Amino acid sequence: MRLVVAAVLFATVPPLSAQQSPTDWPIHDLTRPRPTVVHPGGPAEVRPPADAVILFNGTDLSAWEAQRDSGGPAGWRIVDGAMEVVPGAGGIRTRAAFGDVQLHVEWMAPAPPRGTGQDRGNSGVFLMERYEVQVLDSWENATYADGQAGAVYGQYPPLVNASLPPGSWQSYDIVFRRPRFDGEGKLTVPARLTVFHNGVLVQEEALLIGPTSHKVRAPYEAHPDRLPIALQDHDHPVRFRNIWVRPLTDQP
Ligand code: MG
Repeated sequence: MRLVVAAVLFATVPPLSAQQSPTDWPIHDLTRPRPTVVHPGGPAEVRPPADAVILFNGTDLSAWEAQRDSGGPAGWRIVDGAMEVVPGAGGIRTRAAFGDVQLHVEWMAPAPPRGTGQDRGNSGVFLMERYEVQVLDSWENATYADGQAGAVYGQYPPLVNASLPPGSWQSYDIVFRRPRFDGEGKLTVPARLTVFHNGVLVQEEALLIGPTSHKVRAPYEAHPDRLPIALQDHDHPVRFRNIWVRPLTDQP
């Protein structure tokens, strides 16, 4: 009897959608199925562990510089213990460089929401200034699946849509393994991303097919083992807070 019950349970619980190959679909395909909406319990407001490098603690932008030209002060503003994108100021990047990391970021899309699709609460977390985990207001806001919140932009839609409404703090917990290149600059191991959005798994060991770009899938190009983490200015006043990183030991 117990076996029968178990069999029925297994038969009726839908499995988590599998991570598909990004090349199964054209980039930004509007017909690509949208991830199931899963309301999260709330953001995962994880305080920095003892060995974390604090990138933003709510008071100053000293760990950051402007991404444009050759650095200079980060042109974003501090408001209510958060940093806010100043549209037109350009993206910002960490002064320090990182390779493999565990990264925690909290972000908030503007409320009330303005715009639709990609033009609504758009920003992004760029590992090594190249590999974007999309930040977008994906609360009741349709866009192409590989461009919504928690997507590896242009490659992998999130496994589910775990968004909270605009004006809510949301969290990303990211595990990133950088790509490896041989002495000739040839790719030997692709980059990998695991992402939790508000504590919900949205990317599991996603194997990146190259750096992020818009409308095209760009191939890998060899780059240094450590590069800054960047946050995108996409013309929307998205806020960030409680940003910390734990550099990970290189895997053999
Ligand atoms: Mg973006």
